[in-house]
Amino acid sequence: MKRLLFFVLTAYCININSTESNLRQKAVELAQKFIIVDTHIDLPLHLRKTWIDVTKQRTKGQMDYPRAVKGGLNAPFMSIYVPPRLQGTPKAKAYADTLIAKVEKLERLYPDKFKIAKSVNDVLKNFDAGIISLPMGMENGAPIENDELLQYYYDKGIRYVTLAHGKWNHICDSSYDEERKWNGLSPFGKKLIGKMNRIGIMIDISHVTDETFYQVIELTNTPVIASHSSCRYFTPGFERNMSDDMIKKLAANGGVIQINFGSDFLDKNYRERKKKYRANVKVFMDEHQLERNDPKVKEYRENYLNENPVGYSTVQKVADHIDHVVKLVGIEHIGLGSDFDGVGDTLPTGLKDVSMYPNLIYELLKRGYSEDDIEKICSDNILRVWKQVEEYAAEN
Ligand SMILES: [Zn+2]
Repeated sequence: MKRLLFFVLTAYCININSTESNLRQKAVELAQKFIIVDTHIDLPLHLRKTWIDVTKQRTKGQMDYPRAVKGGLNAPFMSIYVPPRLQGTPKAKAYADTLIAKVEKLERLYPDKFKIAKSVNDVLKNFDAGIISLPMGMENGAPIENDELLQYYYDKGIRYVTLAHGKWNHICDSSYDEERKWNGLSPFGKKLIGKMNRIGIMIDISHVTDETFYQVIELTNTPVIASHSSCRYFTPGFERNMSDDMIKKLAANGGVIQINFGSDFLDKNYRERKKKYRANVKVFMDEHQLERNDPKVKEYRENYLNENPVGYSTVQKVADHIDHVVKLVGIEHIGLGSDFDGVGDTLPTGLKDVSMYPNLIYELLKRGYSEDDIEKICSDNILRVWKQVEEYAAEN
């Protein structure tokens, strides 16, 4: 009897293992077969001061050519990030221009590997040619002070603008603001929405307040995107993520939410552990009257983290966010906006860099997502919105 049980169990385990490895293999294949668009990667910021040869694997950071090829990444939106401290000064434009120049340099130095993509067609053409597309999105509309500058950035290749970043600007409020300057969009911001529609730049509502989001939805004539936001359902009270009601409105308008992979965006338990860690460090600093960079503070941090590791979220949790959106609004309104190179060492286990998209695809396969579904998540949904934005601009 015992022996029979042993055989049955062994056969069962072998079966599970072979199904698992089949699915893993399948996930790797699909990552290569489908176009993968990721709407938020902060590589340009890392190239700003010192040039990095990203055709070789970097020792730091999360995006480079070899790992992108391995992970099947075809069109990472390069984030043209503008720090809020530069808002309202000429430095905002200069900073953005510097980052755009870095993306242009990638194309110039490595033409067989990277090409700036300014349209959905460009992405498709580059995919067929085996070249990684580099579309650009501007994170923080601070440099866009008038119509001419909007046109200027469109001509440079900017295809979405995240209206604000960590602090209100002349366009709208930020979800991180304690006090709300405009209660949503500013008068300038309200006009800008129609102009972005007409010129063909996607409106990105990541980072803005709920009021701003609802006002954008009222005003826009095209679907909008959240380029790197996750579901507030899993992180209650974190306005930077989208509430269920907002996801429904976004979807009703035809838009997409592109899930951010940072653990802060995924998991309230992680957020609580981190909050506790920071609070403890602050108490220690206050008690001993020490500055942030004092070696004693560093030592305290290390000891604290050894005893109370903050850890990471998981690739499964990213799949939970996708499940949640799908349950709320269906498969047409969800995609990927990792925030690689933008969220530091907070990435979930199983999704640490651009080589690991197959791990997420594997999770989705395991949960019963069809190949069609997975293709929608990888790129079809975001490309559909981008196309609609292009078509609206062509007609208006
Ligand atoms: Zn961001």
